[in-house]
Amino acid sequence: MSTWIRLFAVATIFIVPLLSWERSAVLAKPTEKTSFGKTPDGQNVDLYTLTNQNGMQVAITNFGGIVVRIQTVDRQGKTDDVVLGYDSLDGYVNDTAYFGAVIGRYGNRIALGKFTLDGARYTLARNNGENSLHGGIKGFNKAVWQAREMAVEDGPSVELTYLSKDGEEGYPGNLSVKVLYTLTDRNELKIDYTATTDKKTVLNLTNHSYFNLNPAGSDVLQHLLMIQADKFTPVDAGLIPTGELRSVAGTPFDFRKPTAIGARIEQEDEQLKLGKGYDHNFVLNRKGKGMELAARVVEPTTGRVLEVLTDEPGVQFYTGNFLDGTVRGKGGKAYGRRSAFCLETQHFPDSPNHPKFPSTELKPGEKYQTTTIYRFGAQ
Ligand code: BGC
Repeated sequence: MSTWIRLFAVATIFIVPLLSWERSAVLAKPTEKTSFGKTPDGQNVDLYTLTNQNGMQVAITNFGGIVVRIQTVDRQGKTDDVVLGYDSLDGYVNDTAYFGAVIGRYGNRIALGKFTLDGARYTLARNNGENSLHGGIKGFNKAVWQAREMAVEDGPSVELTYLSKDGEEGYPGNLSVKVLYTLTDRNELKIDYTATTDKKTVLNLTNHSYFNLNPAGSDVLQHLLMIQADKFTPVDAGLIPTGELRSVAGTPFDFRKPTAIGARIEQEDEQLKLGKGYDHNFVLNRKGKGMELAARVVEPTTGRVLEVLTDEPGVQFYTGNFLDGTVRGKGGKAYGRRSAFCLETQHFPDSPNHPKFPSTELKPGEKYQTTTIYRFGAQ
């Protein structure tokens, strides 16, 4: 046996297991599970704090699959929590803004809470004027999910599962949903959604985190935003898409080059008036079906950067127009209008009533599968 072969054998027998032992030793610790209290109907809820090898932390509760905290560093190395939310479970139980939650069965609006599938007419719970928003009266954001800590290759993870029963909030089919949150060592919060059904249904899952990359500042108007979208879906007075895919060129919806969120938000524009700011679905420029950069946000004071990658066709850009300072969040802070932004990756709102939009139907035997990454950095 040559010396090289001997050396290779030694490496394989001793060093490789040592390396993987070291990796599992690092992975064994990074998820900490603590009690987050009890729901009003007596169910125990936990908080899972994921820590990656850079010390970045994300906390997730199995109540609503809510992202409770995302702690990232600025360009000076100072750590802050960059998402809106509450200090305790109570806040989330009573919340109406969907802070940090998994949204389902259907992210965003379905007009008049009605749609037809194979000739059968379905009527949903309406909770937003005459429309159904974010899954109805009790959406996935208010459900207690089963949770399992995982150590996948990418970093510490928590897997959440939920069975949405046939007829829940008016939707057909028993829908079995899985959401896997992973905090990677590349400082990414990766969200993998999968689902199966036993009857044809519609679904559109997303996460409703509200970001402010400079939490010491008051609003997000100085944040520079880039969205990779040549088109958006204009809405009517109920914020339902009209069906048109409108070019962003020459409008306040053109974020193809980094532009301050507040630069044009008060412009005389019919669509901004209807949304009371930005509350619109952007049609992402896609090259293929895989993960692509959808949006990038830079906060100039702190240097924090957020990149959003997804395989979804759209993203809802919402500037917290309905926050009015009456909600008191973490540390008693009043969350005012435009104190955060959301970038909710998704299929387009009201797709079940727009046959020309990418389909949100799921049939028995098919697997719903989509991934979104929120990647954090500083520059
Ligand atoms: C919607 C807003 C809504 C908000 C709820 C967003 O996804 O587009 O219209 O007010 O969620 O907090």
